[in-house]
Amino acid sequence: MTATLILHPGKERSLLKRHPWIFDTSVARLAGQARPGDTVIVADSHGKPLAKAAFSPQSKIRARVWSFDPDAPIDHAFFKRRIAQAVLRRAALPELAGQQGLRLIHAESDGLPGVMADRYGDTVVLQLTSAGAEKWRDAIIAGLVQATGCARLYERSDSEVRGLEGLEPATGWRFGEAPAGEIVIEEHGVRMAVDIIAGHKTGFYLDQRENRRLLAELSHGKRVLNCFCYTGGFSLQALAGGATQVLSIDSSQPALERAAANLALNPGLEAARAQWHCANVFDELRKLKSAGETFDLIVLDPPKFAPSAAHAERAARAYKDINLLGCKLLAPGGLLMTYSCSGGIGVELFQKIVAAAALDAGRTARIVKRLQGAADHPIDLAFPEGEYLKGLLLQID
Ligand code: SAH
Repeated sequence: MTATLILHPGKERSLLKRHPWIFDTSVARLAGQARPGDTVIVADSHGKPLAKAAFSPQSKIRARVWSFDPDAPIDHAFFKRRIAQAVLRRAALPELAGQQGLRLIHAESDGLPGVMADRYGDTVVLQLTSAGAEKWRDAIIAGLVQATGCARLYERSDSEVRGLEGLEPATGWRFGEAPAGEIVIEEHGVRMAVDIIAGHKTGFYLDQRENRRLLAELSHGKRVLNCFCYTGGFSLQALAGGATQVLSIDSSQPALERAAANLALNPGLEAARAQWHCANVFDELRKLKSAGETFDLIVLDPPKFAPSAAHAERAARAYKDINLLGCKLLAPGGLLMTYSCSGGIGVELFQKIVAAAALDAGRTARIVKRLQGAADHPIDLAFPEGEYLKGLLLQID
């Protein structure tokens, strides 16, 4: 018997708007027995069934909806279908055609909470972050292998958020065998090695793909500063776009070594135009300012300062700090490409922070373009939390 999660009166509202999370505070009681990850029926306070969801007894997000049809069977065929649909959605978008690095499943936004899957050539990397996803691991792996025809699949379920669900890390090859050499993808003509085992996320920041293309278009003849460069994604695109000089900063020496190795994978790029600097961006920008340096184009793509709204205030100060320094370092007419990937900082708040930074820097900043994640990181309008990456391209007088 499928157990039923009965909600408090009125707490079905977000569910009726097809938001897939049911918080612990909305739940009146569980009728029946359910273990972590089990499928439960979600019902309003009168007992009317509204959805089928995965039960997460240890998490504040007590259940995540698999289907808004309470009669839908949640079985192997369900996952096979949802995965195939996600893969087809991407195949239908010209922007994504021929991409070797591609997000195939973007969790809630693809109707699969707790499931993330990225493709790097013929290797798929899977990340499961919820009890429900964990329960259906085999079905998800089988669905991915079938939908993609990949040669191998690696599970990289080592994200910290698993702890909130009471899940231990789980990593390893789940289909096929480890490739002989390193995994290399080509993105807009630039070759990049992807460390799927130890790199950030599943190895690469696929969400910035279109923004890297834009940077290449903007870089010709420019002196570029790339802050938080990681393995050099933006830096290499700036070089490919004809930047005269690219200074890249990151506090991780291994990331910088990877970045330099990535540059070496691209003999067509002029290595002498690239400088890699291991430093704390906050300190280094101040030093560059004191030294009287200026740049024509600055990229600020920091790590997630505010994972949730609770961290927003401290994070806001950090975003303001780097954007203030960024504005000060720009030559008149320069371009600032600035991002936040914090779920806890919304689009409007981010714009306000950057506006305050420009004001304090004594500069006029105009929006050239609003920036977001690439199309393989869709945002379901019913799930605004999916809009974690936001950015602004600004022209600074
Ligand atoms: N722009 C990158 C992704 C950035 S990830 C891309 O497109 O691939 C964030 C990076 O910031 C990480 O590499 C991390 O090492 C670095 N980092 C975090 N805090 C930092 C700090 N205070 N100073 C310098 N680098 C920092």
